[in-house]
Amino acid sequence: MTEAAFQKCINPDCGAQFDCAQAIFKCPACGELLDIRYDWDKIEVPRKLSEFAERWATRDNRLDFSGVWRFRELLNFCEDRHKVSIGEGQTILQPNDAVAEYVDMQAGRLYLQYEGLNPSGSFKDNGMTAAFSHAKMVGASASACASTGNTSASMALYAHSCKVKCTVFIGSGRIAFGKLSQAMDYGAATIQIMGDFDDCMRQVQDVCTQLGLYLLNSLNPFRLEGQKTIMYRIIEGLGWEVPDWIVVPGGNLGNSSAFGKAFLELKELGLIDRIPRMAIINATGANTLTHLVNNKKLSWNDGKVDQQIIDDYYADLTARNFSPHTCASAIEISRPVNLKKCLRTIDICDGVVRAVTDEEILDAKAIIGKHGLGCEPASAATIAGLKNLREEGLIGGDQRVACVLTGHLLKDPDKTVNYHKDKQGQFSNPPVEAPNDLDEILKLIK
Ligand SMILES: *Cc1c(COP(=O)(O)O)cnc(C)c1O
Ligand SMILES: [Zn+2]
Repeated sequence: MTEAAFQKCINPDCGAQFDCAQAIFKCPACGELLDIRYDWDKIEVPRKLSEFAERWATRDNRLDFSGVWRFRELLNFCEDRHKVSIGEGQTILQPNDAVAEYVDMQAGRLYLQYEGLNPSGSFKDNGMTAAFSHAKMVGASASACASTGNTSASMALYAHSCKVKCTVFIGSGRIAFGKLSQAMDYGAATIQIMGDFDDCMRQVQDVCTQLGLYLLNSLNPFRLEGQKTIMYRIIEGLGWEVPDWIVVPGGNLGNSSAFGKAFLELKELGLIDRIPRMAIINATGANTLTHLVNNKKLSWNDGKVDQQIIDDYYADLTARNFSPHTCASAIEISRPVNLKKCLRTIDICDGVVRAVTDEEILDAKAIIGKHGLGCEPASAATIAGLKNLREEGLIGGDQRVACVLTGHLLKDPDKTVNYHKDKQGQFSNPPVEAPNDLDEILKLIK
């Protein structure tokens, strides 16, 4: 533990504070989400963000090598000896003019932050390295999570590397094969519940409370601290400049929550002079955030979120026996646990929320793939959403936009194969059948 960090309830009427040595995950006083807060006066934060670049020269230090811990002063909640790292965050920000053309943006203005390059193939590793460092700090010996897939893959990898037991809860039949294969291969005990992600999420919280397991869902505020670094790396990739827009898929809303917090802190520390806007993209089949923000006008309101609007909507989902459905399984969530923190991000970043169809997602995914980066459907929601926001005129073609590609193509090969083989979309590229005959084959290759 460091002197400088503490946990604080996000509910302004409560504001209870707790030591970082506790693993509680929800405010014991009022049940709200917790934040990690810092007493910045007690931390030696570099005076300029560019000072972090000096650590590129000392990459033989495992913490300087990590794309998360390279920025450790900005998530200073535990001592170095507890920090777990398996080389996460070696990700790239790349301009992509071909994809820019697809969304009608000028060349040189669209950047893709490819988080599929993480050890477990998704951005979740950024959060897991931080949460497992906390787990080690509090001496946890067993962990659990509910997962649409990538959290379990990432958790299993980190649990193994720090010798903590792990149990994964997944919904029946919904998880992408690549992700399930990872959880099993990395040695997680996998429990498949007859239900969807939201059911798993409820069960895992009770299981963790009863058995004293360390919870690794994005409810865990330490995970979100690690995910802040995705934004630091985007700024780093832009020569320490801030883009105009960040575009991110919205599922359980941990990423968007972490990103807003990252920018707010950088601004308060005087390390950036302005905060970018943010677009959070849902799938139309799992559009709780879009509905609540755009139709019901739900907002952060200085922390006094109108709980009644949320309760009414969730009661309606229950009454309709609603289960979310989208090809983007990573965002197939209808009761996002970080909803309120995400509302705060929308407030901080002047954010907007949109929903895109599965068809738009799969077409965008094919375009991203064709132009050099394989991502899973949820990641492609960013480009689909950006395309619509360009058509709306909300984002200008000359603005600098960074889209977070959250996970690797090979996580979910079925969706890709079906899209191409079954000619599901306008960019389908199916294999051509050929007889076992050289002349016939030659004729097919023109
Ligand atoms: C978890 C996940 C998401 C959703 O992120 P949230 O932080 O839950 O909103 C999106 N894409 C991929 C690939 C994921 O694994
Ligand atoms: Zn509280």
